Amino acid sequence: MKAEISFEDKILSIVKKSGGEGVIQSDLWTVLGVDSREGSRAVMKLVRAGLIRRVPVTFKGRKTYKLFYSSRQLENVKLVIKLNPVMGVPCFLCRDLEKCGLGSYFNPLMCSRLTEFLQGKCVRHNHQHVI
Ligand code: SF4
Repeated sequence: MKAEISFEDKILSIVKKSGGEGVIQSDLWTVLGVDSREGSRAVMKLVRAGLIRRVPVTFKGRKTYKLFYSSRQLENVKLVIKLNPVMGVPCFLCRDLEKCGLGSYFNPLMCSRLTEFLQGKCVRHNHQHVI
């Protein structure tokens, strides 16, 4: 059984073969027999994946794009979020957080847990300045 080649793979293959010359985007639609909307959607997927670069050009008096293969894939981004600074805030783990708000039964202006936490911060802050 032959595996079906995706539309994006076909575009990528054509653009890759064009080398440094690139491919006029509107020519691609003619070669592949698709409308510009469908084609643009597929191209944008490849652009977002970092496999294709789109450069604006004027071709036969019309504004279009030239597509170039980009061998540089977007690197995986590793995001490290440190939660230590917020772990002490009582709201962070509060089971009433979604019900809490100004004018509600659970209200940050009236909350003893939040008030105690903030007062503790103030006391510690003042001590640091006195020392
Ligand atoms: S203010 Fe009080 S009740 Fe509201 S989310 Fe924070 S800890 Fe919970």
